[in-house]
Amino acid sequence: PNIDFSQLEEVALIGRGGQGVVRKVRYVPTQQFMALKTVPIADSVADGVKSEILMELTALYNCASPHIVKFYGASHLRGRIQLAMEYMNAGSLAEILSTVGRIPEDVLSAITLRVLKAFHYLHVDRRIIHRDIKPSNILVNTAGEVKICDFGVSGQLANTLAMAQTRVGTVTYMSPERIRSQPHSASADIWSLGITLIELATGRFPYPPDVTNSPLQFWSLLRLVVNTDSPTLPEHFGFSPEFHSFVALCLDKDMEARPSVTELLWHPFICLDTNVSVDQEALLAKQTRLIRKWVATTDPLQREVTKIEA
Ligand code: ADP
Ligand code: MG
Repeated sequence: PNIDFSQLEEVALIGRGGQGVVRKVRYVPTQQFMALKTVPIADSVADGVKSEILMELTALYNCASPHIVKFYGASHLRGRIQLAMEYMNAGSLAEILSTVGRIPEDVLSAITLRVLKAFHYLHVDRRIIHRDIKPSNILVNTAGEVKICDFGVSGQLANTLAMAQTRVGTVTYMSPERIRSQPHSASADIWSLGITLIELATGRFPYPPDVTNSPLQFWSLLRLVVNTDSPTLPEHFGFSPEFHSFVALCLDKDMEARPSVTELLWHPFICLDTNVSVDQEALLAKQTRLIRKWVATTDPLQREVTKIEA
């Protein structure tokens, strides 16, 4: 069910990432908004690899979860790959963080439950590791929905993109075992979630970022992740013991000791209510209202206007 890429009309530039450019577009036949990501593919990449990437991307069509951004299609045209996906009108948590500074703990708890539901779908149902969990890959909309995007379903695409990656103020959400190129598993995503939560809760990436943008500095950041104790949530913000415990479990340097998504779903930081008599659907709906209210305070409409003018 690939869309017709010639029927996409540009609306605004949304963002520029390490891999390419994301635009808000309108799909003319349905008048639906979509997000279109364009990734330049070097001529040096073999044609075989390019068609392999497109093949692998078709696996994205089969991903259906309310917490994963919908995928509409991919095309390969004149030295670039284009991916059309669901447009999330309030943007990413990275964008929001840059305007609000910090995200409150109760909102983070609700967001984390939704990210874990997405992980459960990927890790347990589909046997897929996301590999790139970070604030800019968690998207929200004004309906209060939270969805993750940009997951590593395509090994070839991941390799090609990694080569194209330009590093500007690079930080890494990569787990120690991945940095050491040891065999890794779904628990690498749990580590990345822990780092992401500290950043969202405090407004600061917990390791010194590579501001010099040099390969040498980036290497020392990687060494830091491998060689130093895991970061923790700072005490002075007054976070709950449950939040501290949740983050500490995610950031166990021993991947074997890190809890799985299924175990984390029972953690008191996000477990809706251990009292089974409570209506879980009603609690989820209540959380969605909380997220929706919070998103409204971040002024998503203003953001849209800015993007269109940019
Ligand atoms: P990165 O995730 O490394 O920042 P990307 O190219 O994936 O780079 O995305 C660039 C920016 O575009 C993101 O930070 C995000 O704010 C925005 N974005 C990406 N996908 C979408 C989408 N589906 N809907 C709305 N905004 C998006
Ligand atoms: Mg992204």
